Amino acid sequence: MADCIFCKIVKGEIPCFKVYEDGKVLAFADINPINHGHTLIIPKVHAENIWEISDTDLAAIHKASKKIAMAIQSSLGPEGMACLQLNGRPVNQIVMHYHLHLIPKAANEPDLTMTAWELKPGDMPLIEKTAKKIAEAIS
Ligand code: 5GP
Ligand code: ZN
Repeated sequence: MADCIFCKIVKGEIPCFKVYEDGKVLAFADINPINHGHTLIIPKVHAENIWEISDTDLAAIHKASKKIAMAIQSSLGPEGMACLQLNGRPVNQIVMHYHLHLIPKAANEPDLTMTAWELKPGDMPLIEKTAKKIAEAIS
């Protein structure tokens, strides 16, 4: 897509600090890292979000995420890692080209606030009804 910043990175029109590349995916350092080692994995073919991306590219990203997570683990030794992926502006997706964040957390880094939501017991009948609704829509 012509005016997509991540497509420009794929084409080499904008530089990046590359971490990994194969035929389907590219991984590079996030330039506004939440933590040391924050890495993004993207498909080379433009897709905006989880609803658009092909199964093949999605599988390639998740396969690459294991390889890269292993490398982050062995090179930086974090004590944990969040794998985060946002879909749509209402949940703060900023770059509208699918990307999976790998966000390691070192011992000396603060807690990741976005992963620290409060657990409150839900409305069980509603949970059941909603799960059923989703299950029935699986194609
Ligand atoms: P999201 O869309 O999931 O909210 O996050 C987009 C991410 O892309 C942000 O973490 C932001 O720092 C990163 N980002 C935006 N523009 C660039 C860029 O030009 N280069 C790199 N390496 N990262 C970028
Ligand atoms: Zn794109």
